[in-house]
Amino acid sequence: MLLGFAVATAAAHTPAQAQAQTPPPAPHIIVAISVDQFSADLFAEYRAMFKSGLRRLETGIVFPAGYQSHAATETCPGHSTILTGSHPARTGIIANEWYDQSLERPDKKVYCAEDPSVPGSSSTNYTVSAHFLKAQTLGDRMKAMDPRSRVVSVAGKDRAAIMMGGHSIDEVWFWSGKSYVTLKGDARPTPGIVDAVNATVAAEMKKPELPALPDACRIRSTPVPVGNKTVGVLRARDADDWTGFRRSLAFDRATTDIAIGLIRDLRLGSRGVPDLIAIGLSATDYVGHTFGTEGAEMCTQLLGVDENVGRILAALDATHEPYVVVLTADHGGHDLPERLRIHGMPDAARVDAALLPNEMSRQLAAEFKLPEPVLLAVAPFGDIYLAKGIPDALRARVLAAAQARYLAEPQVAAVFTAAELRRLPPASTPVDDWSLAERFRASFDPGRSGDLFVASKPHVTPIIDVSTYVATHGSPWNYDRRVPILFYGQGLGSFEQPLPVETVDILPTLAALIHLPIPAAEIDGRCLDLGGGGSDTCKPSPK
Ligand SMILES: [Zn+2]
Repeated sequence: MLLGFAVATAAAHTPAQAQAQTPPPAPHIIVAISVDQFSADLFAEYRAMFKSGLRRLETGIVFPAGYQSHAATETCPGHSTILTGSHPARTGIIANEWYDQSLERPDKKVYCAEDPSVPGSSSTNYTVSAHFLKAQTLGDRMKAMDPRSRVVSVAGKDRAAIMMGGHSIDEVWFWSGKSYVTLKGDARPTPGIVDAVNATVAAEMKKPELPALPDACRIRSTPVPVGNKTVGVLRARDADDWTGFRRSLAFDRATTDIAIGLIRDLRLGSRGVPDLIAIGLSATDYVGHTFGTEGAEMCTQLLGVDENVGRILAALDATHEPYVVVLTADHGGHDLPERLRIHGMPDAARVDAALLPNEMSRQLAAEFKLPEPVLLAVAPFGDIYLAKGIPDALRARVLAAAQARYLAEPQVAAVFTAAELRRLPPASTPVDDWSLAERFRASFDPGRSGDLFVASKPHVTPIIDVSTYVATHGSPWNYDRRVPILFYGQGLGSFEQPLPVETVDILPTLAALIHLPIPAAEIDGRCLDLGGGGSDTCKPSPK
């Protein structure tokens, strides 16, 4: 009855209005692209320079203030939100690594995209798996609706491929140090494109590579001293420098080549059911960590991302199937303090050694005459665990003492306990107004999270040794939370919405386009209407 009424009303409109109400064609291919560490700040800074794929995506729908809403702004939690519609509190992916003191392994640490029950695996030599992901991804839901839907996930990082792909991926490929690989135990033949890309990379790595400085990046090419090296200007990658490969243009190019090859060879979109491909371009994150975000390196890298996105769009055009693309990031980022200070941020600093977990642990051990370690933590900030061996009678006092010691440090903004977060109701204000506690609440899982949560003050970089990485992300501050969210597809609107939306909104938004019902109680996000004044893409349309 309701549908009949809607149709009758539409027919009463002028032809132009009726035309505008035509729903967009349901996409045959859904493409989710994550650019690791592509902050909203980088998007704003560089968007005028994009000429290829990112330029084209900007003609669609631009949410320049998307939010990875939670406090633990790391790769694994961030990727877990993009296609599940859920914050890490619900996906269970609270960090890249966390502690499980019930495990037999000596370091008691788990990696977010591993299955620790596989014999012989450890937190560093892990077996890649979606074991810890508690939520269903878009791909999982599409396959549950129609098993003919293909789900493909390709990324530089295994955790990006797994968290976007989910539990039932048909083809999953990620970089494993010297080649692209899939899950252990998959005995199917390797697709030709993967073999071809691996062979090309192996040949390229025998030679050094000197990246060309694009003219547009010249103005950012200024050396900045940090430790006993400088960043800010392009440098050659040596032959056989496999770590250098990950921060070179060749890395994302190789990932893109595989994605394009699989779109073509698997004939995605051609079987009358929607297919999904998730693509994780990971090099931007390694560039940000190694060189910071404001030098010639990041400028050159982002122009490379623009080109790779352009190549992906061209491959999609060549299928002649309707498609929709969403592009976003797993977290934002922050420049190195040395350059922040000369760029007008005098408070930028590296973390004080007193905040290193071992140092805090040592102080507490002395105070309570306990064996070390008293505290277990991956980093100075974020989740801090009390050691399992501390006697029950002492735990509350040790916890209070640890909280007081952290709060006494000038670089600490706030410290929360697990009990405080457990009591906190989910946030109900717009995401840019969330309190610090609400941000931590969104990446809190009572079964996995720490006992204490430490938030740094803004502009504190938790890296002291700058020999490998000089800059990072992971804080609850907006420079690490804000990411662009771009939608592009046939029949969708064209607008920019500067008000905040969340990456957890992506799943319900895409699901609505393919008429895939998502029970609201199962997710944290909401559908974003992409019609732009035409049909409401969040409302079920008459078939
Ligand atoms: Zn990172």
